[in-house]
Amino acid sequence: MKFSYSRVSTFNTCPYQYFLRYVEKVKTFPNDDANNPLYLGTAVHTGLEKTIEAGLMDYLSNYPIISDLQVNETIKLEYVIAKGKELIPDGLFELKVEDDEFVGYMDLLVPKGNNHFDLYDFKYSNNVDNYLKSGQLHVYKYFYEKMNPGHVIDNLHFIFLPKVMIRQKKTENLYQFRKRLCEELSKKEVKIVKVDYDFQKVREYLESVETIKAAVEFPKNASRLCPWCEYQAYCERKDDTMLLPSKERRNINKIDKKVIWIYGAPFSGKTFLANKFNDPLMLNTDGNIRFVDAPFIAIKDQVTVEGRITKRKPAWEVFKEVIDELEKKQNDFKTIVVDLLEDTYEHCRAYEYENLDIDHESDAGFGKGYDIIRKEFLDQIKRLTNLDYENIILISHEDASKNITNKGGSSLTTIRPNIQEKLASKIAGMVDIVGRVVADGENRVLSFKSNELVFGGGRLNVKGKDIPLDYAELMKVYEEANKTVGSTDEQPKQATERRSVSFK
Ligand code: SF4
Repeated sequence: MKFSYSRVSTFNTCPYQYFLRYVEKVKTFPNDDANNPLYLGTAVHTGLEKTIEAGLMDYLSNYPIISDLQVNETIKLEYVIAKGKELIPDGLFELKVEDDEFVGYMDLLVPKGNNHFDLYDFKYSNNVDNYLKSGQLHVYKYFYEKMNPGHVIDNLHFIFLPKVMIRQKKTENLYQFRKRLCEELSKKEVKIVKVDYDFQKVREYLESVETIKAAVEFPKNASRLCPWCEYQAYCERKDDTMLLPSKERRNINKIDKKVIWIYGAPFSGKTFLANKFNDPLMLNTDGNIRFVDAPFIAIKDQVTVEGRITKRKPAWEVFKEVIDELEKKQNDFKTIVVDLLEDTYEHCRAYEYENLDIDHESDAGFGKGYDIIRKEFLDQIKRLTNLDYENIILISHEDASKNITNKGGSSLTTIRPNIQEKLASKIAGMVDIVGRVVADGENRVLSFKSNELVFGGGRLNVKGKDIPLDYAELMKVYEEANKTVGSTDEQPKQATERRSVSFK
């Protein structure tokens, strides 16, 4: 096993987090908040090494679709990357340092002649004091010099790019907020801080490696850092909603099951396409089954009258019971279709409103109602997409009513499935591909082109294309995309294709 500085610091922060991440290799759905530190940090590195444009593209490519919040982050990124570029010297970026037990990437190594160098590490953070205590640069110098006899790293530096973390006030509009954001940015400076080499930090690192090698237990170490831990919900409440299915449960290389999410305008042919799959069962919410011949179950409130008593079974309970039944596999269906996905979410909300005795999510206390409903919904959708059938098809209407404002102040329309944004990106992580039906008169296509303004995603990397809205054509695309999957360890891919940064 090779150790990296971040692997060892994870163990030192919390052995249980280390165990989940590196021993069990538990993957989680990506955090798609606009201020995701991993996405921002990577964008800064790309921007400093390549171009500002490349950094912004890198950042945006993480999202199935963007909102004003992402545009706000690109304003900050553009500013700090430009400032950083003015200061950093030329050198070798992302230089790999590796031996039998260590692997690391140095952000920037600057040659000074006669095998002497300076080392720089980039941080997009205001947490200067904390990083100055870090052993990272010391460990890199130690291993680089060990692996390159005769080479000497003279100076170690952190380059801190400042973060502006102001929020839009209720009293200001987006234009006013962005103006204030630019004013705040203009007050900030990029800092280059030199640190003195300290071999004690290398010694501590090497001792930690030995501790990890000998570890048989990985206890939890709860701290103020838990809110930033990707396993927090699982660790504290055994809530596994955000964990990705393990590769044992499902091998996408074998095309043993297809999980597809199709969205588009009403009556554009989505249900008709789903009807072409083998032996389908439609879980129908809107009664729109006139043009298809598949058997269906109506997902709606069931009202029964027994004598003088009227009983009502909520639609969400009906939906969950259907999943229970489908899990038993006592039927001959090969394809399960949910038509429409967003209606099942509304059923879930209504069900939980009654359970919690509230009229709106916000009535349940800060964030609590939203969390409970989201968890309940995603839990069931995860069960559904894990069902052991040949095909699972999710169908949604499209929503073209939301606009974002680009940096120049123009309003741009986004096209996305008609379901809450946070849910949409999680569901995109559960399916293989997301396709949008585009109808132009009689001409219907299934489009896999996505960009900052058109929602797309899924695990399989479909190269942006349009195909006729046809079952056989869809199967061809699916198999082609499936061939490009190199390994079952592959991370879910949110965005399938990005055009150049078009929202400027
Ligand atoms: S939530 Fe806290 S205690 Fe649990 S694994 Fe994460 S860092 Fe460790």
